[in-house]
Amino acid sequence: MTSILRADVHVSSRLPLAITRMGESSAFSPISCTLIHGDREAVLVDTPLSISQTESLIKWIENVMPNKELAYVYITHGHGDHWFGIPLLKKRWPNLKAVATKATVEHMKRQLTPEYLDNRWLKMFPGGQIFQPQEVAQPMETDTFMIEGHTFRAIEVGHTDTVDTTILHVPDIHLVVAGDVVYGDVHQFFGEANTTAKREEWLRAIETIESLNPHTVVAGHKREGSVDGIYNIAATKEYIRAFESATKTCKSAEELYEHMQQLYPNRINPHAILAGATAAFKDEASK
Ligand SMILES: [Zn+2]
Repeated sequence: MTSILRADVHVSSRLPLAITRMGESSAFSPISCTLIHGDREAVLVDTPLSISQTESLIKWIENVMPNKELAYVYITHGHGDHWFGIPLLKKRWPNLKAVATKATVEHMKRQLTPEYLDNRWLKMFPGGQIFQPQEVAQPMETDTFMIEGHTFRAIEVGHTDTVDTTILHVPDIHLVVAGDVVYGDVHQFFGEANTTAKREEWLRAIETIESLNPHTVVAGHKREGSVDGIYNIAATKEYIRAFESATKTCKSAEELYEHMQQLYPNRINPHAILAGATAAFKDEASK
């Protein structure tokens, strides 16, 4: 008899940012980590960003499944906020395999170059908050891996909030762990999805999720305690369309920032709008 899979979601704290944008200080969005476990083994999807956040996650995992082994951590995309916890997890579970698609592993490597690690991540979170040295995932040879006879499938969905993003599909429990393809009541990041073409690609990625008919969709950044309902699919699409039309009607990055806050006053982290608003007006030809 095969085991029954179950899943739990951990939502990280919001890490204060050491930098300001447009004169405003803020904190990073909360990060979701999904734990899918059978009778003896488990898969974690994504990690948080800092040492203290990862230590909290480890305590949480030990509490959720005290007698099970963490076999895999799957990384949905290359942004460091989804995998800088790998070295600490491997210390705690020495047999843990960190895996990702080949393109995600290449993106992870780029995040460790001075341009991203020193100039972005360590500037936002200085003072030893991020574990060093970092360790990237191993590239997967096929698109699937298994625990206890259950299949986990990585699906590449292209450019969403960054390049070469993926989702993890767990068909046996109709679950999609969506990474940053889907957001849960947190302002979306358009710093890299800075053209209409890229935003349309993001919408197509969401349609790929819909075509799988999931019962549960876990957003990469979400409000703690919110249900991982499929309504997040519609909400994420609506937000992309609203941002797209705002890039055409608003006259400046500041106006776009204000407009999105007014449209979505309940979403967490309006600060996340700023990078996208700036990018949308930096390159007029991109619209
Ligand atoms: Zn993210």
